[in-house]
Parts: sequence; C-alpha cells; structure tokens
Amino acid sequence: MTPPAKIPPATLAKLAKLGIRHRADLLLHLPLRYEDETHLAPIATAEPGQTVQVQGVITHAEVTFRPRRTLICRLQDAGGELYLRFLNFYPSQQKQLAVDKQIRAVGEVRMGYYGLEMVHPKCRAVDDETPLQTSLTPVYPTTAGLPQATLRKLIANALEVVPAPELLPDSVRQSLQLAGFPESLRLLHNPTPDIAANVLQDRSHAAWRRIKFDELLAQQLSMRVHHRERGKRRAFALPARGELARALLASLPFALTGAQQKVLDEISRDLARPHPMQRLLLGDVGSGKTIVAALAALQAIENGQQVAFMAPTEILAEQHYLKLTDWLAPLGITPVWLSGSLKKKDKQLAANKLASGETLLAIGTHALFQEQVSFRQLGLAIVDEQHKFGVQQRLALHGKGREAAPQQPAEPHQLMMSATPIPRTLAMSYYADLDVSVIDALPPGRTPIVTKLVNDARREEVISRVRAACVGGQQAYWVCPLIDESETLQLQNALETFQTLAETFPELRVGLVHGKMSSAEKAAAMSAFKAGELQLLVATTVIEVGVDVPNASLMVIDHAERMGLAQLHQLRGRVGRGAAHSLCILLYQQDRLSELARARLKVIFENNDGFAIAQHDLQLRGPGELLGARQSGVAILRFADIDADEDLLEDARRIADELLRDLPDAAQAYLQRWMAHKHDYLHA
Ligand code: ADP
Ligand code: MG
Repeated sequence: MTPPAKIPPATLAKLAKLGIRHRADLLLHLPLRYEDETHLAPIATAEPGQTVQVQGVITHAEVTFRPRRTLICRLQDAGGELYLRFLNFYPSQQKQLAVDKQIRAVGEVRMGYYGLEMVHPKCRAVDDETPLQTSLTPVYPTTAGLPQATLRKLIANALEVVPAPELLPDSVRQSLQLAGFPESLRLLHNPTPDIAANVLQDRSHAAWRRIKFDELLAQQLSMRVHHRERGKRRAFALPARGELARALLASLPFALTGAQQKVLDEISRDLARPHPMQRLLLGDVGSGKTIVAALAALQAIENGQQVAFMAPTEILAEQHYLKLTDWLAPLGITPVWLSGSLKKKDKQLAANKLASGETLLAIGTHALFQEQVSFRQLGLAIVDEQHKFGVQQRLALHGKGREAAPQQPAEPHQLMMSATPIPRTLAMSYYADLDVSVIDALPPGRTPIVTKLVNDARREEVISRVRAACVGGQQAYWVCPLIDESETLQLQNALETFQTLAETFPELRVGLVHGKMSSAEKAAAMSAFKAGELQLLVATTVIEVGVDVPNASLMVIDHAERMGLAQLHQLRGRVGRGAAHSLCILLYQQDRLSELARARLKVIFENNDGFAIAQHDLQLRGPGELLGARQSGVAILRFADIDADEDLLEDARRIADELLRDLPDAAQAYLQRWMAHKHDYLHA
C-alpha cells in the first residue's frame, strides 16, 4: 500500500470548500461528468456545441491586445482547421502552443469570429506515438485553484489507502440486484473502456445506482435515528380532557369532517406522550386546518400549558388572532396578540403576560420568536404555513420551552401546518423525521373553483365580469402583478393598480391592501372586506396565505405568468371557500410567456388538487426550491434524484428499517460514511 500523500494546507482549505474534510470523503467525491478522450475527431466533422478531442499542428500563433490580451492559435489537421483562444495564459502555455508543435486539444467547439474555435481547451503536446486514453476521463466538481489533475491524484491515492468495505449484507445486495460498493466506487472514478459514455453520463449505470441507493439509505437512516432519539427527549405529557374541546365544537356552525377528526386524534395522542411531538399537518388550501390547531391548543391549555401560535404574515396572524378570540373568548380564554409592529409598551405588556404565565395563548408573527419574549411554560408551538418560515426561526422557538425550567429540560410539542403539499417522494426523504398527518378531504358544500386563462388583450371582458359579479353582491380580489426586483416598484405598482381600478369601477367600493401598510391599516382593509363594506379588494401577494373571506368568489390574478405554482394555488385558494360558484381568472401577457411560465399556467389550469400541483412543481423546479427554507443548512442529495430514483428510495426506506433492527453496526457505519461531517439543522 502506498502511504497517504501529505496534503499541503492550502489544498486542504480548498478541499474543505468542497465539503471534503477527511481522506474518506474523497472517495465519495464523484465525477460531475466524463470527457471522452478515447478517440480523435477530424476537425472537419466538428460541429458547434459538441465537446470533442482533436489533434493537429499549430500553423499560426499570435497574441492580440484588443479588446484584451489574447493568445490565438490555429490548429490544423489533415482535413480542416480551427482556432484555439486563451484569455489568460502562462508563458509556458505560449511556448507549448508555438508554430509547428503537434497538439491534442479537448473542448467545446463553437462558432467564433474567425470560424470554428475552442475557448480555453485542454491542450497537451503529443507526437504520432502518443496513445489515446483507453477509458473516459472523469471531471470532478471543483473550486477555484484546485486543478482537476490534483483532485484526480488525491482521489487515486485515497482509493488505494482508504478502506471502503461493502456494508450491505450479501442477501440484501442480491435481492435488490445492486452492484458491489467498492467496485462501483472504483468504476466511477476509473471507468473501464467497455463502458458506454451515456450510461455514465446520465447516471443510469449500475455503479451509479449503487451509489445513489447508498446515499438514500444513509439519508433514511439518519432520519430514522433522529426520529427515534426524539422518543428519548422529554416534553410535558398533555393528555386530552376534552371539556374545552367539546364546548368549542358545540359552538361551531359546522361539525368536523372525518378527515379533520382523524388528524386531530393523531395530534391528540402525540400530545399525551411525554416526548416532544413534531408533526406536520398537511391539508390543501381551505381544508380546515385552523380549527384543528385551535383544538390542539385547547388540549395544551387544559393542562395549564402555554401555546404559541405563529403565522408568517401579519395579515394571517391577525386573522388567526381574531378567529381564535372569537372561538375561545366564550370559553374564558383570551389570546394575547404579539407582532413585530406593536408599540414597544404593548409588546412589553404582552411579553409580561407570557412570562408570568397569566396568558396561556399567544398568537402572532415571528416576533414571537424574538429574544425578549419568554414563556413561563411553553407546552405547544403551532407554526402555520410552515414552509414560509426559516429553519433558524424554528430553532429559536425550539429553545423557548427550556428557559423556564432549566433543571428539568422539557421541550414544547410542535405542530407545523402547511398547505403546500409535499409530494410523496419528498415527504419520504426530506421530511421522514417528522410525523405527518394529512387532511385528505375538503369540508362539504364547496363548489370547485373554475379557473380561466385569459390573454391580457381581453382585459376589458374581465373588467366587465368583475363589475357584474360585484354589482350582483359577490366580492372579488384583484391580485397585483408580482414585481420581484424592488419593493418600491411593487408598492408603486399596487398603488397604480388600485387607482386605475378605483377609476374603472366608480360604482364599487374598492379597497387596497399591500405589504407596506401599517398593520392597523392592513387590518382595517381586511376587516372592511370581510364585513362586506368593500366589494373589490386590490391586493399584493400579502393575501397569498391563509386569508379566509368565504363570500369572496372571484379572483383576478394580474400577470399570472410571473407567479410560481405554489403561489398561484395558494392565491386561488382564497376563493371557493363558500357555497357560491367561484372563478379564478389568470390574466397573462402573451409576449412575456416563457416556456416555464406556459408550463406553470397549464398545470394550474388543469389541476385543482394541491398534491398534483406540488408533484408538477417538483418536476418543473426540483426539490431544492420546493423545500424552500428547510433545505438551508441541510445537505441536499448529491447523486440521487428523488423523482427519477423513486424505486431506489422505496427500497432504501425498507432496508433502513431492516438494518436498524438487525444490523445496527452496519447502520452506524453507513451514517459514519455518509453523514459524519454534516451539521444537521434539520431536526431542531
Ligand atoms: P386552511 O386549511 O386553508 O387553513 P381554514 O382553516 O382557513 O383552511 O378553513 C377554511 C374555511 O373552512 C374556514 O372558513 C373554516 O371555518 C371552514 N371550515 C373548517 N372546517 C370546516 C368543516 N368541518 N365544515 C365546514 N366548514 C369548515
Ligand atoms: Mg390556513
């Protein structure tokens, strides 16, 4: 065995940037792609866009200085010629690329000023005897100042000195028809000549499948282990007594649906345990999550524990505050309101009530998380629209329950709610550490929302439609275009839209709500709309989540092509909350319609079901974006693709259970190999 090569500190620092901290990490630093240097392409056959290897003689070389210092060489083979261009070059390169030298160059061909060219190709001096590579050349993910050659050498050395034993029992390997681990690793770093480039490139080769399986298995194991460890942590047991719940239910104009009852039972059972609940309550827009949350809160309150109920926007938090006050005040429970925009004095007052334990229920925005606010005994934290919160905020809340009684650390139970349904594969991988409850049916009496795509050229018709609806006693939303670039522009646009629409509809009472209004102004506009005093509400996407005005049955979304799928689905969910037939009009600008925007509009037009929409979203955008804040600080899968590799994910899930049960040492070794250096925010 070769002794491990000593790695200079500068290189170590660069490796650390790539997440490589131990020699063993080098083994799993797998190629991004492969270059084919096994044959030469005649220059005459090279086409723009192709990456090829060519060989020829330099027939001309010069350095030009305009527009900037550039080395340009002409390379000629038997049938053609192309130019090699270098913007940054060393004297040694210039020497290598002198006239009459024979050169082999690999790079992407493109059409340049003088004709076909390669910019910064990989070049080497050759003679007629220089053999071609016999197998594909791996290209690794790297960082500035760390050449491929260095990485290759380090990895080759690691392959020799670091043991990479097979961790999967033979029986499992055979039953899943998986390739061996050490062989797979070797093959991917040093592909043999018989392997076709495309199966390596598209990662369908058996060796890739094995690596992807292992990655997924490690992820599953880590989630399971965390899940199990949660069972060892302490929380206050909050058994259901049911009196308050019965009183609330008796006062409602509706009965819980079967789906709501089922998830409530799941939550209730968790709360009764002396271990922290971490449950995600998923339910499509309008499925009735708020009442479930209120009932969960009551279970904690009955046990003398405090509850924090948080929403991502002030409008939504305020709406919850009003609704819960309405529901719970008759039971003798008055929530305290807590938001960032409260006056200092009022904030202090609210904070005092929570610190003393005088108030058991706090509702508000993320101001609830802030340092000043402490609870006497936080038993349950409810986070609405969880996907809108950052991981850091979850962490801050997590610490709250402990402050009160440090001698007896007990954590609050956590209920997270989301209407952004998580596709099954995503739930199986990234959310596997959470328990998930799903409200899978909408309350009865809803009529499905009709969605229409309307070209902006037909704006006048839409305006007539809005007029007719409002005059007829319905209420409508007009959602302003989303302007990402600047808040000022967004504001200006909302004001202009409001002005125009107010002038267009002199006979209607038109209101406006946008993100830059004070919370009192926002609240005033929302409650006027809710009370029916306003017929048309012009709004920015601040109304995206949670807003509930059942009489509103028409929504116009201006410049719908700018919005994301989840956003469109959420916005649309603001209507269709009552018995009236609801209509959502998506106005789009034909000339601004990108391929992706077109695809999104098609999905939203064709689907009403949030899960189906999320599945499409996953395909259009990939998991990284769909996960939003959750993924920050968390390593996303490097090799596997949860959508394309769903079958592997299923297997990994099953095998994770088997390993943990039968072969805990192997499970541990897996975690060590794949997860040892990942700091895990995920499970906070
Ligand atoms: P979301 O799941 O989107 O948060 P909400 O909790 O805002 O939904 O509920 C949407 C509407 O449905 C509210 O007006 C709520 O009062 C009503 N609702 C909730 N549960 C039921 C039910 N079982 N029957 C009838 N209406 C219900
Ligand atoms: Mg809601």
